[in-house]
Amino acid sequence: MIVHIDHFDCSCGNQHYPIEIEKIHIGNNTLDHIITYIMEKGFKNAVIVSDDITSSVIGKKLSIEIREKTHFESKHVIIEPNDLGDVVADERSLIQLMIESPSETDIFIAAGAGTIHDITRFVSFKMGKPFLSVPTAPSVDGYTSMGAPLIVKEKKITFQTHAPIAMFADLKILMEAPTRMIAAGFGDILGKATSLADWKFDHLMTEKPFCPTAYDLTKKALDSCILNVDLIATKDEDGIKTLMEALVHSGLAMLIIGQSFPASGAEHHVSHYWEMDFIQKHKPQKLHGEKVAVACGLVATLYKSTFKDRINETDLVDKKDKVFQIIDEIPDHTFLKSLVRKVGGETSPSSLGISEGLVNASLKEAHLIRDRLTMLAFYNKYFRHNE
Ligand SMILES: [Zn+2]
Ligand SMILES: [Zn+2]
Repeated sequence: MIVHIDHFDCSCGNQHYPIEIEKIHIGNNTLDHIITYIMEKGFKNAVIVSDDITSSVIGKKLSIEIREKTHFESKHVIIEPNDLGDVVADERSLIQLMIESPSETDIFIAAGAGTIHDITRFVSFKMGKPFLSVPTAPSVDGYTSMGAPLIVKEKKITFQTHAPIAMFADLKILMEAPTRMIAAGFGDILGKATSLADWKFDHLMTEKPFCPTAYDLTKKALDSCILNVDLIATKDEDGIKTLMEALVHSGLAMLIIGQSFPASGAEHHVSHYWEMDFIQKHKPQKLHGEKVAVACGLVATLYKSTFKDRINETDLVDKKDKVFQIIDEIPDHTFLKSLVRKVGGETSPSSLGISEGLVNASLKEAHLIRDRLTMLAFYNKYFRHNE
């Protein structure tokens, strides 16, 4: 199946960016599609990037087929794990890819999940070369976006780089991805339940740009995954396709407005806070979407209880009703949890190795990570400052 968003109509008046991804293929016979695309584009020196696991899933085969079927050069770079056994998008991995990439490389191919994409996205951007996205799991919404979250000097920083010129996602490979990764992708989408609410809140309070096209694209992604949760849970082809399309659409929404707010609110800030704590303590990482799903439940609980009560005490006058409306649109945390449980994901901080102390600290400080007026930021700034 081919998803096409060649243009979009939007009357919001904000600056939009054209989607420069030429082709998005979510279907079967992916290797043939990739080879045809490379030949059509006239690329002659490919670097395929994967880790040990995704090398055996597709990386190795892709490298061999490119060489055999096109007689072009192809080099396969397998990113090495760190001391904890994690493949991480940090200085070490970036340098490895740079060193192992021949200078005549004209196309990079990210054959892996989120981290492999982040490493490839950054290095290809810095080398001024395009890259193709070949995701091996429906685990994150960043495949089609421009942001490369990297760990630099033990801090997580997102760099705006470039989107892939094309994406080829093989449904058979995605369906065979580990349950944990599918649950993480579902969790990343579920996080939109609070990120979209935060984005609306920020717009209401600060009148910063808001785009209905990006909102609708992200909201539809969220709704389709909730509606098809049973098919996703059983790794049915239609369910996995729905999840992958939702992840792609969420990425495209970020791409057209040039920022991540629709897809990343307080639940992502809380998740980043936990991640940084894990980095500092040299603990093995949990998947991005796993943390987002749990953080989304915590944030939803806060918004729908204490935050709502305290908003009632304020003199926001005409805005109060609108804030209530935004909060009421967020699904209840018990419902959110039941969905995550269905797809086999973790639903509590403790099951991810996150202590109560870290949860409390993150809910107080996570908003400082980004300058966005999420409801969590508002709560901490106006209600908690004199606690
Ligand atoms: Zn995310
Ligand atoms: Zn717009």
